[in-house]
Amino acid sequence: MEIEIQLTSSPIAGKILPPAGGAAGAWLEFRGVVRGEENGQPIAALEYEAYPEMAEREIRRLLETLAVKHPCLAARVIHRVGIIPVGETAIFVGVAGKHRGETLALLTRFMDQLKQDVPIWKRRAVPVGARPYAEHQPQQPSNVQRAAAGSATPAALRSLDEAMAEIHSRCQPLPPVRVSLAAAFGRVLRETVYAPEDLPANDRSTRDGYAILADDTSESFQIVDTIHAAGWKPRLLQPGETVRVATGAVLPCDGVRVVMQENVDRHGDQIQITKREAGLNLRKRGEDVKAGQPLVEAGVRLDAGKLALLATAGCAHPLVGPRLRVAHFTTGDEIISPDQTPKPGQIRDSNSILIRGLLQHWPCEIFQTHLPEDFERAKSEIGNRKLEIDRADLILVSGGASVGDKDFTRPLLEWLGFDIVFAQVNVRPGKPLIFGVSGTRVAFGLPGNPLSHFVCFHFAVATALARLNGEAAPKFLRGRLATKLDDAACLRETLWPARLEWNDGSPRLHPLAWASSGDVTSLASANALVRVPVNCVALDAGAELEFLPAAAFGLWPDVPSHRLDATPQPA
Ligand code: AMP
Ligand code: MG
Repeated sequence: MEIEIQLTSSPIAGKILPPAGGAAGAWLEFRGVVRGEENGQPIAALEYEAYPEMAEREIRRLLETLAVKHPCLAARVIHRVGIIPVGETAIFVGVAGKHRGETLALLTRFMDQLKQDVPIWKRRAVPVGARPYAEHQPQQPSNVQRAAAGSATPAALRSLDEAMAEIHSRCQPLPPVRVSLAAAFGRVLRETVYAPEDLPANDRSTRDGYAILADDTSESFQIVDTIHAAGWKPRLLQPGETVRVATGAVLPCDGVRVVMQENVDRHGDQIQITKREAGLNLRKRGEDVKAGQPLVEAGVRLDAGKLALLATAGCAHPLVGPRLRVAHFTTGDEIISPDQTPKPGQIRDSNSILIRGLLQHWPCEIFQTHLPEDFERAKSEIGNRKLEIDRADLILVSGGASVGDKDFTRPLLEWLGFDIVFAQVNVRPGKPLIFGVSGTRVAFGLPGNPLSHFVCFHFAVATALARLNGEAAPKFLRGRLATKLDDAACLRETLWPARLEWNDGSPRLHPLAWASSGDVTSLASANALVRVPVNCVALDAGAELEFLPAAAFGLWPDVPSHRLDATPQPA
């Protein structure tokens, strides 16, 4: 069957002829015209977007598959993209065949499946009276129109700063939950916790010893009572009287001091002080924290020490960020599991464990699976895992993020309902990075090479995770190169894997060797990414540059600000 497909931003002609191969058969046409109403509201136009190469591929595949059952001579499909005013044609499909029944069946089946399988989607309806062109880039054709016209898609390319700022603004903290202290470890506190009372709540003894009036100069004392740590018996003391107290015991009355038991001689109910101490041996009420004082601020990760503080203050169920649910898909038919021996062309999967390892820094549940390198089969695999995928807050797809023949990550994310915010970042490695959002859910398509993964995770995925989690996002810090860095001039900024070490309290960066984003050895040592400016050929040791600490290094979010000169956060 002869097939001709065209995606165009121009109006579709009123008369379309069959391809040459269909001239001998009957010609059946379908024309989808934009109607003046969408969901009961009057509209002026519809805007269609497409992923042109993928759309063409899918249309062809669909027609060829249907033609096996309904043989036809030729087909022509023209889909208009961009703004299409009411009354104009959005799609034209013509099918030529020898038998009317088969031609009609092919046309009907094709129209049924087109919407479901082909990455062309209705971006928005333009209401009557609204300016028809995109809100973001007035006067400019949309990305799709450029792509459809065969040109590059510059608006989809973000600088590193733009990408980070955009991720930051598009991701919002997920609703918090109250959990037990044991379940709160590693979570981000979402509301500041204040001291409900003074800590300690009473004056307490710091010694096992004898409480006497602070100004009592008597030589010997009568023991009139005993107070253990758990029991408090208030009583006023007279000169010459003492109460035996344990460490931590609440004192019997105000105005007392404690004499260590090592500094007395005891005979029955009598003691004599052998050595007078200067200190009172007391913890005074409120000396640690005063009632109402903030104990742990919102936005802070709860570690063991902070949880101990919350426990002391009686905050048994802190309000924290939820455990994030992450679904991670690997793609690529060449990928095999690490326990297999690769045949020529095969590659062991390193991204699954890399992503799992990097995610350890965040409280999350991780679901991982591999997708076949076929859009249809991938969709059906996802259909089998619907539950895990529908509940995921974050979806990561490894590989297939570019525009190769088999790359389907972008249409896959769109099929899952994500709006693509950008599809490329002007950074090396990691340029084909896709970022999409759907309500509060976030998705990334990560370029498959491990080093690209590492880089994209740290500047992009980590920014999203921090935002969803309700904490400060990663930020660039400043440090000096410990050794010279030789580079080839590059028109993209580079995030260069490096080993960060401390020298007299200052960060020192050792750039690591890497030749391609497929290299993995640098990952075994990298704990930072140095930001190398555009077109930088060589940098001497001592040059001051920005760097991003790696997640495993645990410098987020509590960067010791007294040691580092942090650069401002992107807005
Ligand atoms: P892609 O982004 O799909 O074009 O993949 C780019 C490169 O990354 C290819 O050489 C892939 O074989 C490799 N790659 C993709 N996924 C993985 C993975 N899970 N582990 C290791 N390498 C991968
Ligand atoms: Mg691939």
